[in-house]
Amino acid sequence: MIELLKKLEPLNLEKTKFIGYENLDASAKVLGLYNKEGIGVQHLTGTGFVIFDQTPFYAISGGQDSDKGHLIFNQVEIEIIDVRKDVIPGYFIHEVNLSEQELRIGDLVDLRVCADFRYNSSLNHSALHITWQTILNNVGHYVEELGSKLNDERYQLQFCNDEMITPQLVLKAVEQINSKTIPEKIKSKIFFVTQEEAEAKNYLFEFTKIAPGEMVRMVEFPGIVIEPCSGTHIDSTEELKKIWFMNFTKTNKAVIIDMTTNPAVAKNYFKTKLEDRLKEIESQISKALEAGMRDSFDEQLKVARNLVEANNYIAIKELNEIGLNITALINKFLKNLEQENIKQFLSQDFQPKIIKDKFYYIETSNENYTNKLLISKASLLANENPEKVIILANQGQTNSNAVLVCNQKANFNVKLWFDEKLADKTGFKGGGGPLIIQIFSPAKEDFKTIKSALEE
Ligand SMILES: [Zn+2]
Repeated sequence: MIELLKKLEPLNLEKTKFIGYENLDASAKVLGLYNKEGIGVQHLTGTGFVIFDQTPFYAISGGQDSDKGHLIFNQVEIEIIDVRKDVIPGYFIHEVNLSEQELRIGDLVDLRVCADFRYNSSLNHSALHITWQTILNNVGHYVEELGSKLNDERYQLQFCNDEMITPQLVLKAVEQINSKTIPEKIKSKIFFVTQEEAEAKNYLFEFTKIAPGEMVRMVEFPGIVIEPCSGTHIDSTEELKKIWFMNFTKTNKAVIIDMTTNPAVAKNYFKTKLEDRLKEIESQISKALEAGMRDSFDEQLKVARNLVEANNYIAIKELNEIGLNITALINKFLKNLEQENIKQFLSQDFQPKIIKDKFYYIETSNENYTNKLLISKASLLANENPEKVIILANQGQTNSNAVLVCNQKANFNVKLWFDEKLADKTGFKGGGGPLIIQIFSPAKEDFKTIKSALEE
């Protein structure tokens, strides 16, 4: 929406003074108002854009999201949706939805940046500089940066693909930061240099857009990193407390690394990736053991539980590998077990009830007797008893299942019989044709209805 403003003529307004490095609150005067089509108006309601004489709101740039917060007018809080300074140079454009409120040129409002959002963004932004340089130090040569992104929750580094950058290397850098850079309480410095000086000192500013003559704003954590940056930062590395390495993606062109300084974000992320995954693995193992598997998984589980504590990308990868290996072992066991069951089931003799001289009816009660298993037995019986309709009905712990199978010689349509006698009266659902159907009901009691329907 804010793109519409690109169509604007050069503005005849005083440029916006950015006071957000020192202030989170400020009063401000409305200098320009634009409706949602980007047309200048004298008064605005609903959705539109506002330019003030000054603002504490950081506008999206250098990968850092714009500040969240409100404008307060007539004691009504109105959300600032987005802030951009790149649409018309020199102006901070605030996107708002005023609803019923009306703003006029010349009105005075209070602007209030959300302090938590700003501080958490500043933490991630500072960590981004430090992580970037520490990774490069470990690589040992310069790797071109493709960009970076950050907000109050997480930060992302994007490098050109370089074979030296691996998850292990990132983990090493993270450990150096957590065990050394953070406890050393390194104070940040902000200062300005001329563009000539920045070039002479070989400060990198491939991503910094600077107007001719403008000074370059530098951020430095002495001994760690020095870069041109217009973003917001913390005062000391001590404030970071700890950084977490969450994800690592490598493509042909890029290496993308996701990190955070936010304990809640990290906790949430690793909970799903590690704790929940471990629970899945544990439940899979206990089911396999209940089914009679004899293998011991103690060693793998010990390693897996240690990985959950590690809370990093490598741990996620290793835990997934352990999970996949265990799943493969269990699947192999279950497949063998199923084949054993089928073999055993096929050789078993059941006492049938012959109903109306037509129906060959067998009842079983075993949680593991699937329709697949029942069909193999019913087909055998149908060949041995070509004039009969074979019904195998099984009651599980909470549900019922059954198969009805017959030969052509039986001259009977099992599908029709099911549709007429059972489908409407029970929870049974199923499919098949005139000679074979398999049905299943989530109700345990439905099991009894089959026999009574046959006897009707
Ligand atoms: Zn910065």
